[in-house]
Amino acid sequence: MGSIMKRTLSIVWLYHDLMNLYGDRGNVLTLADRARRRDIEVSVKGVSVGEELPQQSDIVFFGGGQDKEQDLVAKDLPSKKQKLQSHLKKGGALLAVCGGYQLLGEYYQPLHGSSIPGLGLLPVYTKAGTHRMIGDLVVAPSTLLDQPLIGFENHSGQTFLRDAQSLGKVTIGHGNNGKDGTEGIVHMHAVGTYLHGPVLPKNPRLADQLIVWGLGSHGDTQPLRELVSPYSTIARDMALLRAQSRKTHGLGLKS
Ligand code: GLN
Repeated sequence: MGSIMKRTLSIVWLYHDLMNLYGDRGNVLTLADRARRRDIEVSVKGVSVGEELPQQSDIVFFGGGQDKEQDLVAKDLPSKKQKLQSHLKKGGALLAVCGGYQLLGEYYQPLHGSSIPGLGLLPVYTKAGTHRMIGDLVVAPSTLLDQPLIGFENHSGQTFLRDAQSLGKVTIGHGNNGKDGTEGIVHMHAVGTYLHGPVLPKNPRLADQLIVWGLGSHGDTQPLRELVSPYSTIARDMALLRAQSRKTHGLGLKS
């Protein structure tokens, strides 16, 4: 009888000490937990300013941060560009939330001061608006995910896609810019989003999609066993109810 191959998943958390707003750490915990419950051996490595990305990783997570942290991080990011680029070329998964999402685009223009250059790995650009977009954010099911995405947004940056696929259409809240009804981006196996909350505990299908992409990038194409996620279902239902009861906020993008 042949031995069973050990399954592994390596996660890199970019700027774990600087970019970690509104419980973003929960995204890393969710990825690790959902993989471990399928008997996949998980490693998590934080990589910050002045530190090297490993040669190989399966999923990269990049969380949100305020303009001050974004400034610091933007100076260090170019040193990581080549490895992040090859990570995506190899089919690696990436999740970038809010401030991280903005910095992987072409640039972020804050309200005051000069433009912060991004890495240009995602075909988007961002300009700060004069008001913050704060509140519950709900995204319609899409070709990627057959369930609504549910979370919370808090940003003044307005992100615009350049002929790219959004993560989905906003049903409650503002999303990318509060104007065109789009939220986030899907580009290769990278997902950029304004969904905090954190996003993955409440949206386990997105977590599983990232795990599938990550495993696939080192040739592991075995399907993932379904998991029962009662807490996540409760959290989704509660957040959706709350979002629906408060949906008068925003710029008129209501369901
Ligand atoms: N500084 C950015 C904005 O307000 C990002 C904020 C965040 O990551 N939550 O648009």
